Amino acid sequence: MMNDEFYDNNENIREEWYCSLSQDDPHRAGLRFARRIRLARAAGLAGLFFPVSSALVTHSLSGGWWLLLVGWAFVWPHLAWQQACRADDPHDREIFNLKIDAMVAGLWIGLMGVGALPTAALIVTIAMNMMGAGGGRLFIAGLVIILLSMLVTLQLTGGSIAFSPEPLEWWLTLPFLMLYPILFAWLSYRTAIRLAEHRRRLALMSTRDGMTGVFNRRHWEILLRNEYEACRRSHRVATILLIDIDRFKNINDTWGHDVGDEAIIAITRQLQMTLRAGDVIGRFGGDEFAVIMPGTPAESGIAAMSRVHERLESMSLTGAQGERLQISVGVAAWGPQFEHYRAWLKAADVALYKAKNAGRGRTEVAA
Ligand code: GH3
Ligand code: MG
Repeated sequence: MMNDEFYDNNENIREEWYCSLSQDDPHRAGLRFARRIRLARAAGLAGLFFPVSSALVTHSLSGGWWLLLVGWAFVWPHLAWQQACRADDPHDREIFNLKIDAMVAGLWIGLMGVGALPTAALIVTIAMNMMGAGGGRLFIAGLVIILLSMLVTLQLTGGSIAFSPEPLEWWLTLPFLMLYPILFAWLSYRTAIRLAEHRRRLALMSTRDGMTGVFNRRHWEILLRNEYEACRRSHRVATILLIDIDRFKNINDTWGHDVGDEAIIAITRQLQMTLRAGDVIGRFGGDEFAVIMPGTPAESGIAAMSRVHERLESMSLTGAQGERLQISVGVAAWGPQFEHYRAWLKAADVALYKAKNAGRGRTEVAA
C-alpha cells in the first residue's frame, strides 16, 4: 500500500538521479563550450585570412608575417581545440584562447595601420565570438585587448595610420563581412535548438518512471489534482484505481530481482493494453500502480480490472514459468464528500487495503 517511508526514499534517489542528469559535469560542459567556439573560430579565422592578406599585400609585408597569418588562420583553431580538450578546465582555457584571438587581431590591426575594412572584419569577428561565448564582460575585455595590442604594435613598428582602404581590401573583405554574421547566426540557432531539445528531454524524464515509462508518482498526483478540480467544478464522473502486486517480495526472493522487474513491466503492459488511451497510468514506486479514469464510473473501472485479473491468470513470465502474477485493486469514484484530492486517494488506498485483507487477487470499491 502507500508506504510513505518507501515512497520518500525512492523519491530522494530519483531526485538525485534527475539532478545528476540535469546538472552537467563541469569538464563535459567546458568541452561542449569549447566545441561550440571551435567551429566559430575555425570559420572566422579562415575567413579573416582574406581581409588580412589583402592588407599584407597592400603594405608589402615580409614572408614572416605571411607565415604567422597562415598559422593563425588555419592551424591555431585546431591547436586551441586540442589545448581545451587537454585542459583541466576546458571552459577557462577556451576563454584564454579567445583572448589570444583578440590579441593577435590587435596585432594585425596595428600592422596594417588600422586599414578601415580589414579592421572592421577583425573587430566584428572577434567581438561576435567574445559576445557569443561570454556576454558583455568578455566582449569588453576583447575590445580592450584588441586596443592595447594594436597600440603596442603601432608603437613597436612605428607604422602610420592609413585609414582609407585599397580596392583589393574591398574585394577581399566585403564577402567575409557579409557571410560571417550569417554563419554565426546559424551557429547560435543550432545551439538554441539543441538546448530546447535537451530541456524537452529533461522535462519528459522528470515526469516518467524510468523502468516502465508510465508517469511517476509526483506527476501522476499533479494530474490527479487537476482531475479532482475538474470533477469538483463540473461534477463530472471519474474513478481512480490503486493496484498492488500480491506477494511481490516472494517473487523477488524466489526468482531474483530481474524477474521482479519483468513482473512490474508485464503488469504495466497489461494495464496499457486493457485501459483506454485517455486513462492515466502512474507507478508509485515499488510494486504499486495508480490509474485515473476520467469520465468513467466505478463499475467500468471494476470491469476493466476483472479483465486484467483474467489476463494475468493465463500469463507467465519468461524468467519464471509457472509463476502466476496476482494483483489487488482499490477503486474509488469521485464524490463531493472528498474535500481534497488526497482524501480521494486515501479512499482508494483503504479499498486496496480491504482487497489485501480479504485474501488478495481481487478488486474492492471504496465505501
Ligand atoms: P503484498 O501482497 O502485501 O503487497 O505483499 P508484497 O510482498 O507485495 O509486499 P509489498 O507490496 O510491500 O512489497 C513490495 C516489494 O517490492 C518490496 C521491494 O523489495 C520490492 N520492490 C520495490 N521496487 C522494486 C523494483 O523496482 N524492482 C523489484 N524487482 N522489486 C522492487
Ligand atoms: Mg505488493
